[in-house]
Amino acid sequence: MSARVIPLHDARPAPAALAPDLADPPALPLADTLGRPLHDLRISVTDRCNFRCGYCMPKQVFDKHHEFLPHADLLSFEEITRLARVFVGLGVEKLRITGGEPTLRRGLETLVEMLARLRTPDGRAPDLTLTTNGSTLVKKAAGLRAAGLKRLTVSLDGLDDAIFQRMNDVGFPVADVLAGITAAQAAGLGPVKVNMVVQRGVNDDQILPMARHFRHSGVVLRFIEYMDVGATNGWRMDQVLPSSEVQRRIAAEFPLTPLSHSAPGETAERWAYADGGGEIGFISSVTQAFCGDCNRARLSTEGRLYTCLFAHRGHDLRALVRGEPVDDARLAGAIAGVWTGRSDRYSQLRGTAAAAAEPRVEMHYIGG
Ligand code: SAM
Ligand code: SF4
Ligand code: SF4
Repeated sequence: MSARVIPLHDARPAPAALAPDLADPPALPLADTLGRPLHDLRISVTDRCNFRCGYCMPKQVFDKHHEFLPHADLLSFEEITRLARVFVGLGVEKLRITGGEPTLRRGLETLVEMLARLRTPDGRAPDLTLTTNGSTLVKKAAGLRAAGLKRLTVSLDGLDDAIFQRMNDVGFPVADVLAGITAAQAAGLGPVKVNMVVQRGVNDDQILPMARHFRHSGVVLRFIEYMDVGATNGWRMDQVLPSSEVQRRIAAEFPLTPLSHSAPGETAERWAYADGGGEIGFISSVTQAFCGDCNRARLSTEGRLYTCLFAHRGHDLRALVRGEPVDDARLAGAIAGVWTGRSDRYSQLRGTAAAAAEPRVEMHYIGG
């Protein structure tokens, strides 16, 4: 391995210690120190990806020398499902499978089947979804649907093939992702959401073509502000195109009307085309931080619990599910202890000394 490359799992700080038990069962609903409930769990099932999007896994860093996690370090499907069951018992109502590129994890359909069988304490199936770059959907959409996946989100940053190939940096053609979206719709994985990360000067000329393409298609297109996640993408504020500007450009061609938020903690501000062309959304994590009602926990590929996308440290849940036997009640106590102690609000502090102080984990590992 070359000297300049630090294996990511070595570069990560040691996980915070976790107490596996509390004297009493946690009082529900759980609330963190800012009164925010635990509602969503994002599960990263692999740190690997077949794309090298510059804003997430730049090729210069994630090159052939980069060491991904060995398979033995990954949580098994049984471990993921057990942890997810405990989270659901603590109030989680939405599970999102992510990565890396989650569809690269062998046998993902089996995990989907296992997660689809979970039930909330009052007997409901949690909302189960997946975020993918769409590259494998032509092959996999029908199998994922049959396994119990209800819907999914595809990331797509433009329609111009040259721009898209430059952004994924592995020469992957846009036509294959579009075919994957069609396959997902045909399999009944709807409504499909498409996420576009907007970088000023890189793909902002794709905003209108994307809007035109997905109007009247049943796909909900959402524009995401480019974020300063991780430590490798060389983020600069002047590369962020504020959602307000994206919205202004779209509204100049297609008048928009506001929709209400669909659920507490929903990240996207939702709008509809006034002519009935469907819904679009704006995720303004940089210019309008939504930490105030952030109810998302993240489970990393190797089983660490992160309470913020910009967290410095995770809590080692794998040690609890693989070490000395710990029953589910004590596991729940440990997770509840982390959540009730949570005070993260990075996006509200962005730019301050407090936010700059700590290194951050990479997004493909923690799960976007
Ligand atoms: N590989 C899958 C994909 O691309 O959809 C799932 C993992 S990816 C890390 C999850 C989401 O994070 C994607 O929609 C991606 O566009 C978004 N993302 C990654 N880096 C980002 C950044 N720097 N700013 C904003 N969004 C980012
Ligand atoms: Fe891979 Fe998704 Fe990151 Fe792109 S955004 S490099 S597709 S994990
Ligand atoms: Fe949630 Fe952290 Fe993002 Fe704020 S910065 S919205 S706390 S993940």
